[in-house]
Formats: sequence, C-alpha cells, structure tokens
Amino acid sequence: MRTGAQLAEAELIAPDRLGEIGRVAERYAVALTPHVVSLIDPRDAGDPIGRQFLPDGRELVSEPGELDDPIGDKAHSPVKGIVHRYPDRVLLTPLLHCPVYCRYCFRRERVGGEDGVLSDGALAEALAYIAGRPNIWEVVITGGDPLMLPPARLRHIVDGLEAIGHVRVIRFHTRIPIAEPERVSASLIDSLASTKTVWIAIHCNHARELGEAAAAACRRLSAAGIPLVGQTVLLKGVNDDPAAMEALLRAMVVNRIKPYYLHHADMAPGTGHFRTDIATGQAILRQLRGRVSGLCQPAYVLDIPGGFGKSPVGPAYWDGGTIEDWQGRRHDYPPNGSDPTCN
Ligand SMILES: *Cc1c(COP(=O)(O)O)cnc(C)c1O
Ligand code: SF4
Repeated sequence: MRTGAQLAEAELIAPDRLGEIGRVAERYAVALTPHVVSLIDPRDAGDPIGRQFLPDGRELVSEPGELDDPIGDKAHSPVKGIVHRYPDRVLLTPLLHCPVYCRYCFRRERVGGEDGVLSDGALAEALAYIAGRPNIWEVVITGGDPLMLPPARLRHIVDGLEAIGHVRVIRFHTRIPIAEPERVSASLIDSLASTKTVWIAIHCNHARELGEAAAAACRRLSAAGIPLVGQTVLLKGVNDDPAAMEALLRAMVVNRIKPYYLHHADMAPGTGHFRTDIATGQAILRQLRGRVSGLCQPAYVLDIPGGFGKSPVGPAYWDGGTIEDWQGRRHDYPPNGSDPTCN
C-alpha cells in the first residue's frame, strides 16, 4: 500500500485524514507490505506497528537540530554508493528502496526516490574503491534494503566482494525478514553464499514483528549458517518502556537473533514525535540489566550528528570509585583495603 486512499480503504486511517496523509506522501516515501498490514490492529490508534509505518501529519513539522543528512553520510562518501567513515569498514548502498518505509527513517531524504538503484558502472566503481583499499576488512551492504534486489544482482555483488582478498566479512542490513518474510527464499539465500563470512543484521523494533512467518524466515537464514544480529531504534510509543523492550529482546534471542545495537533515534526531519531523551534509554537498559539474560543486552548507541560515527551512551555503572549492581546497590571498586563495603 502506497497511498492514503489505499490506507483509508483498509481502515488504517480515517477518511478525514486523507489531505494530511497526501501531503506527507508527497514529501516522503510511503509503503506497507501486506504482511506488515496484517500485523497492525486497525482499532488501536496507538498500535506500535502502525505507528512505525503509517504516515502522520507530524512528519511535516521540523524541530530545531533536525538535519536532512543526520549522521553525516555525505561528507564520508568518496564515490557513489560508498560511505567510508571508519578505517576498517565501509557501507555499500546498492539500492535505496525498501519494502516498507519507516516513518522515523534516518535516511528518509534519500530513500524511495527515482534514482535509488546503483547502476552497473557505479557499482563497478564502488567495488574498485573497496578493492583499492587493503584496510577494508568488512563491507556493510545496506540502503535502503539490499535484500530487495533480485537474487542475480545480489550474486553479482557478493561475487565482486568474493574476489577482493582483504574483505573478510560481508554484513547485510535488512528489514525483509520482518516486512516481507516470504521473500527469504532458497534462491535469495543461495545468492548470499560466499567463502567470506556473511552476517545479517535485522532491523526489528517490537516483539509483534517476530511472529511465525518472520520466525520461519529467520530459521531459514540461520539454517544456512548465517549469524543474525538485531538492530532496534528506540522509539516513543513503540518500545520506550521496559516491558516492551524486554519482550522484543527475548523474542530476538529466541529466534537466534543476537541484539546488537539499540540506536538512539537520529535527528531526521519530522521525527520529533518518535524521539525520547537519552535518560529514558538509559533507564530502560538499567531495568533490564541482570533481570534479563546477558544474551538479550544490546549496546545503546548514538550516531553523532555531523558524521562522527557511533558512540555508546551508557548507562555507566562504574563512576570511578563505586560500581552499581543489577539491583541498584553501589559497592566500592576497587575495594577499600581488606574490607570491601557493600551498602
Ligand atoms: C554504522 C556504520 C558502520 C557500522 O558500524 P558498526 O559499529 O561496525 O556496526 C560502518 N560505517 C558507517 C558509515 C556507519 O554509519
Ligand atoms: S528499512 Fe531502514 S532504510 Fe528503509 S525506511 Fe526503514 S529505516 Fe529507512
């Protein structure tokens, strides 16, 4: 579904909001797959799945500090399709289209446009850039959503990286197992096979995204020997409370997805209604520490506006003299003499 009229027809938005939704859709890409639509409860105006994908007039309101290029990709893009910020790894963006468009997307000014497919020539240049830099150990294929590419195109990209000796790890970032799980087919999985180590990072923000179809897609990927990690964006009204976050992290681990990053929401235009403050994120993680298996703990990170990369934003448990335990009690560390205090 891509238009307000289709959303109104499915009773996902009220007909009196068609004007508002039309204005948003002129500005930002809109798409929902039938699978994602099936996860939304149309009777719940605050449904956490609906909130992520249904356009909303608040997207046209800018807040101070919001940036078209919130994490500074442009300044680090030496050739089309490459973002090279860190010495040992690059992003490769062969496709700027997605199966669904997340309303809080950090690349919302770039995704869903007409010129979203990297041409053969540009892809060859991007691969040549990687081949020419022996420091590049890992290639993160992202977008958009690279797993929307036809298997033959994916095969071509993986073969191109296969031929570059210094590239050891290929990581795909995708929402396909959540948004369109049936697309995780045998031919798609075959197209990713490589002698390099292939990882997949799955973007997932709510436990209900990991229903039976998504779980089956994850099982197919795991069965092919691909390790899965989870990326989550901290979003107001979706997962900004400890119970929702705990359910999500447990659902990931049960599905063999190791929670990797909890991203603080970026300063993308018109996303103020999704952003929490850092203290909220830290409080959620504090609640989970010790109460939830260590396998479930992601690192809470902020991508520093301006292109300076990601940094962990806590919470910090050690303050230089004492350390906090999982129940909130503080203990001296290093211990005081032979008599470590516990008060
Ligand atoms: C996020 C990002 C990466 C990957 O960072 P990791 O911390 O390794 O997950 C690499 N390059 C760029 C430009 C990024 O924004
Ligand atoms: S899947 Fe990723 S790139 Fe695509 S709209 Fe969502 S956040 Fe943006």
